[in-house]
Amino acid sequence: MIPIAEARRHVLSSCAVLEPRDEASGAAEGCVLAETVRAAEPVPPFTNSAMDGYALRAADTRSSPTRLKVIGTVMAGDDGTVTVAPGQSVRIMTGAPLPPGADAVCMVERTRVDEQGTVVVIEDVLEPGTNVRSAGEDIAAGSDVFAPGTLLGPARIGVLASLGIESVLVHPRPRVGVLSTGDELVTEAGPLPRGKIRDANRPALLGQLRRDGFGTVDLGIVGDEEADLVTCLEDARSRCDAVVASGGVSVGDRDLMKAVLEKLGGDAMRSMQVAVKPAKPFAFGLLDATRVPAFGLPGNPVSSLISYELFVRPALRSMAGHRTLDRPRLSAIAACDLPRRPDGKLHLLRVVAHTDGDGSLRVRPSGGQGSHMLRAMADANALALLPDGDGVRAGRHVEILLLDGDELVRAAEVAW
Ligand code: AMP
Ligand code: MG
Repeated sequence: MIPIAEARRHVLSSCAVLEPRDEASGAAEGCVLAETVRAAEPVPPFTNSAMDGYALRAADTRSSPTRLKVIGTVMAGDDGTVTVAPGQSVRIMTGAPLPPGADAVCMVERTRVDEQGTVVVIEDVLEPGTNVRSAGEDIAAGSDVFAPGTLLGPARIGVLASLGIESVLVHPRPRVGVLSTGDELVTEAGPLPRGKIRDANRPALLGQLRRDGFGTVDLGIVGDEEADLVTCLEDARSRCDAVVASGGVSVGDRDLMKAVLEKLGGDAMRSMQVAVKPAKPFAFGLLDATRVPAFGLPGNPVSSLISYELFVRPALRSMAGHRTLDRPRLSAIAACDLPRRPDGKLHLLRVVAHTDGDGSLRVRPSGGQGSHMLRAMADANALALLPDGDGVRAGRHVEILLLDGDELVRAAEVAW
């Protein structure tokens, strides 16, 4: 058996970052920047009002209340060129350009107008700049906005749009082919013939990949036939950036994925027994010629998803240019005993993590811990890391990998 760290080192050092390419800014959410984004223009583009109210000269409000002549109105979208002289004001809406001569805005709630709407009484003493948003106060023209390596989240996509940047150089999201292997697998609905099972891994892995922001290619089910597996991988390597297969990497008579990867996986091919439970067997290679990474995950459904977490997801994130490769690792408290036996492996327990009344994070098993028991994986939002030994007692600290922060069950909903 080899430590997880060694297997990961091998995988991560074999997976190259994908060549950057231009992407339309609106479609780049979730991508990692491969260039510095600079602002060619300021944001806001012009000095404007932060309030609905009256634009005026702050010096006119020294002795409140002040009476000012209303000489016009500027709406959002107007060019707002009417000049405000001493003793004058302009009715103004939020986002409208501040008229020349004005240096402050009195919010409408602090004003009164006469019946004709020609004179406004200002209740406040205002400083220059009050309720004014200056050109460039968010982003100055010429400034560096985002560095290479920045993850483009929704607000950053909004910033690109504010700056009029239509496309950006990003690392593409890997397109990942997924196949299930095994003569026992069926996809058809209807009664199961004895000995057959339904394919759980391919839909689960495809779903996980989509959720993680990667592209997917469904490569279907391949039986335990070496020639069919070779054909499938040879076809996949020309249209995928990576291939993920489940099943056939263990020591059974029909575990052929290992043999196939040995044929196609080049010098990077390694078949490993990782010191982890579940997900001990694991194979990895770079498909000849294209050097497309191929991951051979164990067939047991829980093992395949955990192997994905340990090796595939970090490798794909690194190919996509991400700087953080792993799930958040947090310290939690065992809500009950989490026993195990010493066996030289790290155990990853499927657990439910929830915050307690005092804000502390507590975990309990989400169900049966067999590597074939996908239901407990389905009900888990975290994996608890139990180092080799006798386990963790109730009330003691245990490290977890948080799989789903949105599903972090709270003792009480956050009170807004
Ligand atoms: P293997 O790694 O091929 O020896 O498979 C280990 C176990 O996982 C066996 O019980 C298989 O039937 C099961 N298994 C393999 N592939 C799948 C799959 N795609 N969906 C559900 N179970 C699977
Ligand atoms: Mg099999």
